[in-house]
Amino acid sequence: MVSIAKTSIYYGGVAEDVRKQIGVLTGYSEEQFPFRYLGVTLNPEKLQLINSILFGLENYWCSDLLLPKVVVNLINKLCKDYFWGTQPGKHKMIFQRWHSICSPWQEGGFNINELLSWNKALICKWLWLLSQNRDGIWDKLTKDYNMLDASIWTAQCKPHHAESWRAILKVRDSLLGLVGDQVAVQDVLDSSVLKGRFVISKVYDKLRQKHSKLGWARVLSYPEILPKHKISLIQAAQQVLSTVDKISARGYHLVNRCCLCEGALESHRHLFFRCPFSQAVRRLMLHWLGLTGSWSALALKNWLYRLLPQHGMLSWRCALVFSCLAGLVFTLWEERNNLIFLGRAKKPELLATELQWVLKIRLSASNNPHIRSWLVNK
Ligand SMILES: [Zn+2]
Repeated sequence: MVSIAKTSIYYGGVAEDVRKQIGVLTGYSEEQFPFRYLGVTLNPEKLQLINSILFGLENYWCSDLLLPKVVVNLINKLCKDYFWGTQPGKHKMIFQRWHSICSPWQEGGFNINELLSWNKALICKWLWLLSQNRDGIWDKLTKDYNMLDASIWTAQCKPHHAESWRAILKVRDSLLGLVGDQVAVQDVLDSSVLKGRFVISKVYDKLRQKHSKLGWARVLSYPEILPKHKISLIQAAQQVLSTVDKISARGYHLVNRCCLCEGALESHRHLFFRCPFSQAVRRLMLHWLGLTGSWSALALKNWLYRLLPQHGMLSWRCALVFSCLAGLVFTLWEERNNLIFLGRAKKPELLATELQWVLKIRLSASNNPHIRSWLVNK
């Protein structure tokens, strides 16, 4: 038995008159969400800013010292809040973990450096220099610290030793715990050297948390895809956008209706691209690309696999199709957000025309002569 007094109803993309009718019929009061539940399109400039701030901060503070965990957590929280646009006191429902975001594009992340591993990677450089006794650095240290019998693998820290030395030994021990013994650690360090230079990003790649590579990762290597389109494509293909079905699965009882077609439940599968509205935009884009055939009722990932070069499509045609597909995903998600948050609706024809202009500008910068000659007739 449902208590009317204790039950509220939440709406997503439902017109005001319909909300009123539902209220009259059910007797439930309407509630506003305690969080901004229906996601926004992510801005690639934010990624760039986070990376450059972290890079500056890391290189300044982290090349000699290990940041305390509490500081790492605080910086990560600031980055997360900025990235997701979270406002103080307002919770935001997020379906992608930070460590997954801090992974390369090919693993479904957004190429942000993970702070703790980058910090350790920077200190690894000192560990390598000491293990090589570069410029007599190890001899000098053992003399200063009066530990002439020790090696970099056996040296211990005393209370009066500097914090930076303490950090090096902590990273050494953490590496020993990670890979086993000093031979294996030395291998990790030596394999991070290129032309006599220690490359931080190489050792970072060994320290960071790995995620499985996306089966369709090659798609992301096409430079013709706009960065903001690439972000939306990754999120949609991994089904981490805040669609109503995902929010409902967390226990929020939403009226689930796709705001683009107003005729079906909203899910990734529906939005990309079973929705009649989305199909209309897609048809226009496929026509623009000169593609025909049956394209309906395929999930997004199937599209990505089916279109990869090994299935017979020429590389420059792939670049066109993937940049268009990523643009389509971005456009549909943006249109759906605009409808919900701003009440602004556009016709499929207008969305397709706008997307074509955006793509024309991007593609005109392509180095590929086939793409440029294709553009002449557009
Ligand atoms: Zn729909």
